[in-house]
Amino acid sequence: MTVRVRIAPSPTGNLHIGTARTAVFNWLFARNQGGTFILRVEDTDKERSRPEFTQNILEGLTWLGLDWDEGPIFQTDRFDLYRNAVQTLLDKGLAYRSYETPEELAAMREAQKAAKQAPRYDNRHRNLTPEQRAAYEAEGRTAVIRFKIDDDRAITWNDLVRGELSWKGSDLGGDMVVARAAAPGEVGQPLYNLAVVVDDIDMQITHVIRGEDHIANTAKQILLYEALGADVPQFAHTPLILNQRGQKLSKRDGATSVSEFEKMGYLPEAMANYMALLGWSPPDGQERFTLEAAKQQFSFDRVNKAGAKFDWDKLNWLNGQLLHEMSPEALLEKLIPYWQNAGYEFDPEIDRPWLLQLTATIGPSLAVLPEAVEMVRALMVESVEFTDDAAKQVQQDGVADLLQAVADKIDETLDEAAAKEIVGAVTKEKGVKKGMVMKSLRAGLMGSLKGPDLIQSWLILHQRGWDKARLQGAIALATG
Ligand code: GLU
Repeated sequence: MTVRVRIAPSPTGNLHIGTARTAVFNWLFARNQGGTFILRVEDTDKERSRPEFTQNILEGLTWLGLDWDEGPIFQTDRFDLYRNAVQTLLDKGLAYRSYETPEELAAMREAQKAAKQAPRYDNRHRNLTPEQRAAYEAEGRTAVIRFKIDDDRAITWNDLVRGELSWKGSDLGGDMVVARAAAPGEVGQPLYNLAVVVDDIDMQITHVIRGEDHIANTAKQILLYEALGADVPQFAHTPLILNQRGQKLSKRDGATSVSEFEKMGYLPEAMANYMALLGWSPPDGQERFTLEAAKQQFSFDRVNKAGAKFDWDKLNWLNGQLLHEMSPEALLEKLIPYWQNAGYEFDPEIDRPWLLQLTATIGPSLAVLPEAVEMVRALMVESVEFTDDAAKQVQQDGVADLLQAVADKIDETLDEAAAKEIVGAVTKEKGVKKGMVMKSLRAGLMGSLKGPDLIQSWLILHQRGWDKARLQGAIALATG
C-alpha cells in the first residue's frame, strides 16, 4: 500500500497554527513512509472563503518547508463529483428528500428543549409516502437531502493516536443533511462531510490525519464510506493546541496564524521544529531538529493524546539557538530588512565590515530578529539621547575628566587591543577602578548603561567616525 495523506485547509482565514501543525504531521508521515502528500483546499463555504486566504495558506506551508506532491485541488471545481455521490445515496435508498420548513424545524427544537432532550433531527421525513412527497412539492417546498443514520449503530475505529474510539449512531444528531435545499428532483449544494468523504475516496487517501475537533465528523464520515462502498481509511486525530491555562489557543494568546509568527521575526526552521513538538517528540528525546531529520523518526505512537500547550519560552529558545548558530553573513542578511524598516541609514555593501562586526556582537544575545532594532539604535543613529541613569553617570564628579582622557588617546587606528589599552591606561592614570571607566565610557558612548559589548560597540562607533563626538557630547552634558 502506498501511503497517501492530505492537508485540507478551509480558506476562511490565514493559515492557523493548528492546521500548520497538522500539515507538519501529515508531511512527516508521508515522507517517513515514502508516500504522497496532497493539498486540498476546502473552499465550499463560498461566503467565507477568500482567494487571499488561499494565498496565505499556500505561502505559509511553503515558508515552513512543507512541499506537497499533488494539488492544490479546489473543492469548488468538483461539485459534480459530490452531486453524483449524493445521487448514488438516493438511488441506493440510503438518503432521502426531506421537506421541513425552517419553522417546522425550529418548533421541533423548541419541543425538544422543553422536554430537556438533546437537539437532534427526529427523522420525521425518513419514510414519507410518494403521495406525501408529491403533496409537499405541490406546496412549492424545496428539499434537502438527508443521509440515514441508524440510531442502533455503533461506530468504532482504531485511531492511530487515541486508540479505540466508539460513537453511538444515536449521538450523531439524527439523519444528516448532505446537500442543501433544491427544487424538486434536483440536488442542492453538497455539504462538508459528504465532500470530504467523496474526495478522500477519489484521492485514495489511506490515512486521514487531522485535529481532534473532527472526531464527531469521523463517525459520520465512516458511515458515508460504507454507504458509498469504499474502504475506510485509517484515522489519526492530533491533539488540540492549548494556551498555558489549558484553553484552546486564541488570538488573545498573542498569535494564531503562521504569517503573524513570520512577522514577529521567527525563523521558518524554528517554527517548523516547534510545530512538530506540539504533540510529538522524537524517540531520541532531542528538541532541536530539522523536518528532514524528524521524518526519519516520525511515528504515531509518539503523538500525545493530551492537548499540546503552546510554550513561547520554548519557541523563543529554539529560535535563539538557530540565530546563534548562523554565520554573521547569514544573520546579517536577515537583519538588514529590519534595520532598513527602522529607518537606519547604511549601505549594505560599503558598510559591510562594521555591519558584520555589529551582527557578530549582538548575535549571541538575540532570541528573535526584531529585538535587533532597539539593541543597535545607538550604533545606527548618529545622535543619542541619554537615559536618566546614563546622564547621572556622566555627571558624577571626575567623569568628564575620565572621558576627556579617553578621547585624547583615540587615534585613527583604534582596534580592540588599542581600546583595551586606553581603558587600562586611563584607569591607572586617574587612580580609579576599571569598572568606573567602563561604566562611564558606556554611558558616554552609548547614552545608556545597557547594550551590546562595550569594546565592540566602541570600535563600530569609531569606524562610523562617531566616537569622539559622542564623548564630547557627554562631557558637555557633564560640565553643563
Ligand atoms: N477543512 C477542515 C479544516 O480546515 C479539514 C477537514 C479534514 O481534514 O478532514 O478543519
